[in-house]
Amino acid sequence: MKNEKAMVVFSGGQDSTTCLFWALERFAEVEAVTFDYNQRHDAEIECAKEIANDFAIKHHILNMDLLNQLAPNALTRDNMEVKAGENGELPSTFVPGRNLLFFSFAGILANQVDAKHMITGVCETDFSGYPDCRDDFVKSLNVTLNLAMDENLVIHTPLMWLNKAETWKLADDMGKLDYIRSKTLTCYNGIKGDGCGTCPACKLRLQGYEKYIKMK
Ligand SMILES: [Zn+2]
Repeated sequence: MKNEKAMVVFSGGQDSTTCLFWALERFAEVEAVTFDYNQRHDAEIECAKEIANDFAIKHHILNMDLLNQLAPNALTRDNMEVKAGENGELPSTFVPGRNLLFFSFAGILANQVDAKHMITGVCETDFSGYPDCRDDFVKSLNVTLNLAMDENLVIHTPLMWLNKAETWKLADDMGKLDYIRSKTLTCYNGIKGDGCGTCPACKLRLQGYEKYIKMK
């Protein structure tokens, strides 16, 4: 795969940044795509830009404002609270079909720049109830994209079966633990690195980190 090009779906968070390094180890050329949909914090886009810049990665930012028209939700509307899903309900950050749209656009962009591989950091293990993070969905969309474009794009999901502690291990194995810990943004309150420590994303990230450090 060394001589081929890959497109990484990239938010500047822990998972997609780990995927970015995963791709850099495997492909001759790596580009990244970030979706701008009026996230609660411009900090997310800035963070993604900085990381892409640090590693001289060609960075595409696609405007996905239309998502806001489709699904007002806690990530894009300041007056909605970010809550974890309870009793099997989806968290308030859920935008139905978001990855269906993102991955379709990323797949078309990959086709445009002649990238034969696409990488996303979705995973089933820390499953927060998003149906379009499931392995079945990704495989199904991979087939659909190839039928739509008469292509042989391969979608890779290196984190699909890893828990958060194992994702930190992967970062560490690539020598990027400290970089990912300090430079990525996962926090719903827009705070880089260790974040606010209290939102659901920070809790999940910190629990995984502590678990990994203990088992190391
Ligand atoms: Zn937080």
